Amino acid sequence: MSELITKSALELAAGLASGEFSSVEVTQAHLDRIAATEDDFGSFITVTDELALATAKDVDEKRARGEELHALAGVPVALKDLVVTEGVRTTAASKILENWVPPYESTVHNKVKDAGLPVLGKTNLDEFAMGSTTEHSAFGTTRNPWNLEHVPGGSSGGAAAALAGFQAPLSVGTDTGGSVRQPAAFTGTVGVKPTYGSISRFGIIAMASSLDQVGPMGRSVADAAALHKLLAGHDPLDSTSLPDPVSDFVALAENGTLKGKRLGVIKQLTGDGYDAGVSAAFTAALDVAAAAGAEIVEVDCPSISYALDAYYLIMPSEVSSNLARYDGMRYGLRVEPETGPVTAETVMAATRAAGFGAEVKRRIILGTYALSAGYYDAYYGSAQKIRTLVQRDFAKAFDAVDVLVSPTAPTTALRFGAESASDPMALYLGDVATLPANLAGIPGLSLPAGLADGLPVGFQILAPARQDAMMYSVAGPLEAALEAAGPRVLDTLAEGLTK
Ligand code: GLN
Repeated sequence: MSELITKSALELAAGLASGEFSSVEVTQAHLDRIAATEDDFGSFITVTDELALATAKDVDEKRARGEELHALAGVPVALKDLVVTEGVRTTAASKILENWVPPYESTVHNKVKDAGLPVLGKTNLDEFAMGSTTEHSAFGTTRNPWNLEHVPGGSSGGAAAALAGFQAPLSVGTDTGGSVRQPAAFTGTVGVKPTYGSISRFGIIAMASSLDQVGPMGRSVADAAALHKLLAGHDPLDSTSLPDPVSDFVALAENGTLKGKRLGVIKQLTGDGYDAGVSAAFTAALDVAAAAGAEIVEVDCPSISYALDAYYLIMPSEVSSNLARYDGMRYGLRVEPETGPVTAETVMAATRAAGFGAEVKRRIILGTYALSAGYYDAYYGSAQKIRTLVQRDFAKAFDAVDVLVSPTAPTTALRFGAESASDPMALYLGDVATLPANLAGIPGLSLPAGLADGLPVGFQILAPARQDAMMYSVAGPLEAALEAAGPRVLDTLAEGLTK
């Protein structure tokens, strides 16, 4: 095992800049680690070793020539297989895109390429990002490096497992209702859902377009901040992309302070329904924040009680519309009916029946029903009204506090085969703390706050829309205070590494 794999992305960047090691060495160390552990973790759908090494070599040569490079040049990254990569198979973990090789490039991958980050591969996810365990993948199971009997969370479970398993120092996920923050919580890593529009969605396979946001993930707040800074910025190819200038999130994380910061604990997201171990770790983290000078207040956001219901109407409605494009005609899988006439309609039905998994079908049916003529106002219309109320509740709360906080998820990583892991309703309830941020478009971050029964607990920080800077200036010092108060969560795993 090479010690390069336990370094943070920023440590790797510094070592590359000073010539301590090369990008080829760093990339090869991670590829070796992937080869040694993939049978256990199953984080990747596709490993792109040749491509990664070619980029690494190119960056090393440019550095040797004295060319100016991006701060993260040569630091490897893993991309969720929902990010379109030109010339590299992109599946969304669905049989319907099993052999799809995109003819165009996503803005995220373009930025990663331009900055010279070797891409290690495409990580596993729940099909089309629908799920919370990565079990709804047509490409096998991803296991939690903390305990292989437990799920890594989802839908960006592969991205999170790659980080916690030291297969990659940085990962790109996506978050529609918590899919970056919840797997980060379950694996003891850091996951960020930026303000809606902060990172371009061009070339991100759509789940629910008004909620989807690309999420930078790392093993520390500063690493995630560095990746966020690289990926953010206005993109004319995404009409919802914000024109805002990009702040130096790393400096904000490193120089922030908790002194005088007001942290609002969302009343609706604590207490009943949260595991005792999760609540205890969350409360202990609040004590650490208070000792570091933060003011802790309780905040009432009544509409959040209805957020889950609104999300599970708006999200499937958008899913049913976005996934209509997989019709067996344009790209991806095409299946002809076994009997009867071959028409556009029968081919479409046969293709979708064979290509989509059960969870995706469930949501398409739900969304199609919610949008149907007679029910539109009753369901979709009402849900949109709740969405506005949630936004107003947050806006009001942020008048009184700098950030809002809660546990990221009500539980730690579920055990495979546990009743709750196979019950869709129980899983939907697990999104209660994360999805309000997507409905409101505000930024959210999950960082590790200790363990409960040997598994990591996530602490969520929410900030006002377009104030991702404030989120980092609280998350950075909180992470530092928590690490000063107890062992760094991922060190437990790093110490046990053998292969
Ligand atoms: N678990 C949530 C869901 O299943 C979130 C998904 C996501 O953020 N992509 O909808």
